[in-house]
Amino acid sequence: MQKRCPCGQLMTMKLRTVIYSGKVEIDNVPIYSCESCNRSEVYPEVKPDLTGLIGKLGAEPGKQTYLFNEWNEWADLLVEAYQARKSTDATIVKPMIEERINTLLDLYTIAQSVNDEQWIADIHKRLTQLSRCEIQP
Ligand SMILES: [Zn+2]
Repeated sequence: MQKRCPCGQLMTMKLRTVIYSGKVEIDNVPIYSCESCNRSEVYPEVKPDLTGLIGKLGAEPGKQTYLFNEWNEWADLLVEAYQARKSTDATIVKPMIEERINTLLDLYTIAQSVNDEQWIADIHKRLTQLSRCEIQP
């Protein structure tokens, strides 16, 4: 996935490690970066979850490591795409999103049939995270 950098070059998306407060490592964060001017930006659709995670850490967090893909369905899908195909191109990721949404909807039906509210809430959160993502071809 790519977007245009203010300097005019194309920015490419990679899964990178974000270090917060010099102590907390957050792995697998989707980030756009520009090789020409070194600008980097957190993928906009995952920002609410990244800030939410950082918010939970408090003012003086201890040394710890998080896998961002355990917090965000979209990052999880990108990790899966990268592991399976060594690429996060839209052509690879797009069909995976549709497949993942279908799987989640099936699970949602099952969760509702057994009346598991926590499970229903979890699936709902994951679906919301995925539906925020617009894929630019
Ligand atoms: Zn640039």
